[in-house]
Amino acid sequence: MIIAIDGPAGSGKSSTAKAVARRLNITYLDTGAMYRVITLAALRKNIVSTDDTALAELVAATKISFTGVPPATRVWMNGEDVSDEIRGEKVTARVSEYCAPAVVRNALVEEQRRIGSGCSLVCEGRDIGTTVFPQAELKVFMVASVVERAVRRKKDFEKLGITKTDHELMADLEERDRKDASRSLSPLAKADDAIELDTTGMTLEQQIDWIVERAEQLVVNERN
Ligand code: C5P
Repeated sequence: MIIAIDGPAGSGKSSTAKAVARRLNITYLDTGAMYRVITLAALRKNIVSTDDTALAELVAATKISFTGVPPATRVWMNGEDVSDEIRGEKVTARVSEYCAPAVVRNALVEEQRRIGSGCSLVCEGRDIGTTVFPQAELKVFMVASVVERAVRRKKDFEKLGITKTDHELMADLEERDRKDASRSLSPLAKADDAIELDTTGMTLEQQIDWIVERAEQLVVNERN
């Protein structure tokens, strides 16, 4: 079974997807982390996001891997643990730019499909239900008010020692959503057959239960 979880930044996808994967004992795939690794690699090498040739070479030379059981997963770039660095401000501010070129998206989508072939997984991102796994059995599009998303992001950043005002956080989120939803190739979008889940005011446990119940119902329906 493939569970696709899409939605804007800070809508609760990551924490929910990790916990759902753990509860159902299936693979967890964080596609945002993959785009973040490529962004970090490009920034370190001073590659601009318009240089398709350099980006194609970079993507081919950058091995992205994941270890650990969610929520304690780690992200690796050519053997270096970059889990914290890819969540920092520098990468977060530029990822929407580096994830847009076709040379990046095509290669990463192919890799995501390879990881998902032949196994059950919870996959989170922006284009999972529309592009990566359009055949996913369960598609959830998570949304939340920008105020609530900023509160969640603040907590994430505080863990990394980064302080930002609510106003800055809301502006950053809205800017990233705008870029993600307006790019030409597989933009942030709700698939026609996705169920929208507004997590504003919901607890993490409620979000997890909501998805797990639907996934379990699908398994029951398949058996009957
Ligand atoms: O989910 P996360 O915030 O880590 O994603 C980082 C960025 O990666 C997003 O803002 C978006 O620009 C990009 N992304 C994407 N497609 C995905 C997942 C993430 O374009 N499937």
